[in-house]
Amino acid sequence: MTTQFNSFAQMLTALPDDKACREYLESKRWGGVPTCTHCGTIDEKHYKLNVNGEFKGMYKCKSCKERFTVTLGTMFEGSPIGLRKWFIATYIFASHKKGISSHQLARDLGVTQKTAWFMLHRLRQSFTDIEPKILSGVVSMDETFVGGKNKNRHADKKIEGGQGGASADKTIVMGGMQLGGTVVTKIIVDREANTMLPEIKKMVKKGSILVTDEHRAYYKVKKDYFHISVNHAEGAYVNGAFTTNNIEGFWSLLKRGIIGIYHQVTPKHLQTYCNEFGFRYNSRKITDKERFDMALIRTEGVKLNYNMLIAK
Ligand SMILES: [Zn+2]
Repeated sequence: MTTQFNSFAQMLTALPDDKACREYLESKRWGGVPTCTHCGTIDEKHYKLNVNGEFKGMYKCKSCKERFTVTLGTMFEGSPIGLRKWFIATYIFASHKKGISSHQLARDLGVTQKTAWFMLHRLRQSFTDIEPKILSGVVSMDETFVGGKNKNRHADKKIEGGQGGASADKTIVMGGMQLGGTVVTKIIVDREANTMLPEIKKMVKKGSILVTDEHRAYYKVKKDYFHISVNHAEGAYVNGAFTTNNIEGFWSLLKRGIIGIYHQVTPKHLQTYCNEFGFRYNSRKITDKERFDMALIRTEGVKLNYNMLIAK
């Protein structure tokens, strides 16, 4: 199959219905040759089963005799939403730099807000369900507070010298950004060295250069890293060639997104939102279409259900 498109508008023309979308997904996931989800057999001659007199993508494996479809084991599995609506949602999600709200997506697709909310969670999961990168080289690190009822809270800086634990209405996110721009984030419960050091070790390769502010937990990293601190108290974000400007820039992107689009994000879902923004940021050099295709083939294993999401 040679379906080509390079924009949202072209996709709408190139994939006019659920069948075209299903065939496109088959070409991306299987290279066009049906591959049994159960035993992995790749065979053009897997049986095609008709449903209500029509072939709708249901195969029966020639080898293990099990039934499978291209959506089995993906975020699309078992969804009553047609594949084309899923594709539209995926393209929007892949291309909107700051994400999209469930209310807006509901209007765009003509589905209920609850349905759109569920779709967005599945999308977010499939976009971000990847092994976190280990950062190395020169890595700037910082923490930020997210949430809070005070509408000015997003502008808050850290309390100087304070260790600042999380509270009912704010959550602490720690982040590292490698020079050149790969970001990794992690929700932490407080800013104590005992909490932060193990997370830093998971996030950044030993021996790297860490550029941080003067928060005192960072002074304990010297055993494993070269540490350079910049003085935020004096309004400086630069120490010679070293700066925390890049991770600061990511925080403002994240906060604008959360405040502008997602409004109130619960701490429970915050890591997933951080991953969403991190994924978009880290893949900023590829095109929307490439990001869309990546999301489609990265769907394996995503089987969130509604109850899992709303569970407290
Ligand atoms: Zn099989």
